[in-house]
Amino acid sequence: MPTTMRNPILQELPLTEAAMAGQKHRTRYGSVTLFPPPDAEALQAMTEPTHDSYGRRVRYLRISLTDACNLRCVYCMPEQMQFRPRHELMSDEEIIFLVNVAASLGVDKIRLTGGEPTIRPGVVELVRQIASIPGIRDVAMTTNALLLDELAQPLAEAGLDRVNISIDTIDPERFRRITRWGDIEDVWRGIEAAERAGLRPVKLNCVVTRGFNEEDVIDLAALTKEEDWEVRFIEMMPFGEVSEFQLSHVVSFREIREKVESVFGALEEASYDFVDPSRPFRIPGAKGTLGFISSVTEPFCQGCGRVRLTADGKLRLCLLRDDEVDLLSPLRAGADFDKIRALMKEGAFHKPWGHGLATGVFAEDRAMNQIGG
Ligand code: SAM
Ligand code: SF4
Repeated sequence: MPTTMRNPILQELPLTEAAMAGQKHRTRYGSVTLFPPPDAEALQAMTEPTHDSYGRRVRYLRISLTDACNLRCVYCMPEQMQFRPRHELMSDEEIIFLVNVAASLGVDKIRLTGGEPTIRPGVVELVRQIASIPGIRDVAMTTNALLLDELAQPLAEAGLDRVNISIDTIDPERFRRITRWGDIEDVWRGIEAAERAGLRPVKLNCVVTRGFNEEDVIDLAALTKEEDWEVRFIEMMPFGEVSEFQLSHVVSFREIREKVESVFGALEEASYDFVDPSRPFRIPGAKGTLGFISSVTEPFCQGCGRVRLTADGKLRLCLLRDDEVDLLSPLRAGADFDKIRALMKEGAFHKPWGHGLATGVFAEDRAMNQIGG
């Protein structure tokens, strides 16, 4: 039986069990027909690695569970953001179907993001279903942590492996200003709950925004001296209607590093796998590490094996380009597993080499919350 649990923001609904029966069934998103995915044995038998046209292996899928959020960070979305109506978003059953398809193409790592993934009703059961799909060996989540105090333990029990938590400053006032109304105490409680639940190693994401928090990188970096966390500094990226704000407030990786080194001395390089976008360093003697994600000034596209599923069911091939393959419309129109698999494979093959920020090409169609950062 699916479990139900309270969600402080939205009422929880159980995952429908008839979902994979291959019949038309009603969901809160409307009436949908889903062909059943193959059983576990058949899925394993058909699983094969997928490469793009540049030879990069595509094995990492980030899924936006919702475009909605309980905060409005200045670098992410406008204050008066309009969210999509529910029927335009993927249902739980559709997400699970698409993860099965991705797994058959060799995807073994999933990150749930958004918007804010924890506000999605049924998120715990959804994690449980995703984690049990053959071939999926790692399920992570990026979250603002506001609801983790209550959800970290059930999420961990359902199969979530790790969390990245967004925190851009440790100063309560500046936190409120960046998020527009957030209370940083909720984030600290969320971090503690994540650690208690064993969602380790905890990674903290900090987007550095000029005029808002560039001085806070020192306090955030200092956290790694006593805690075995990875604090990751992210260069702000431009998207959609907030791109003007973003481009005029970006702080480069070099500037952030210089700031940190001016206080803590030269950083030591930590081991680097060339796949993770974060380049790790360590303050000498520190327990934790610092990561720098320099998407804008020093892109890491050569090692990128990520594709994304937007909350409205489009396969997004590069975070910073608008190229997408619609999977949800054909799925709702009755396409079977093999058809959707062929669409996903073809899309992955055409993953662009890299972003075009240097030549003035950037993503215009969506804000970050709609893509799934
Ligand atoms: N709500 C969750 C959170 O904030 O962690 C998950 C979604 S959020 C869009 C995912 C990550 O993208 C967060 O770490 C956030 O800080 C980052 N982000 C949002 N807008 C960004 C931007 N314009 N440039 C770079 N990172 C951004
Ligand atoms: Fe919400 Fe995350 Fe965007 Fe902040 S960064 S507004 S928490 S989706």
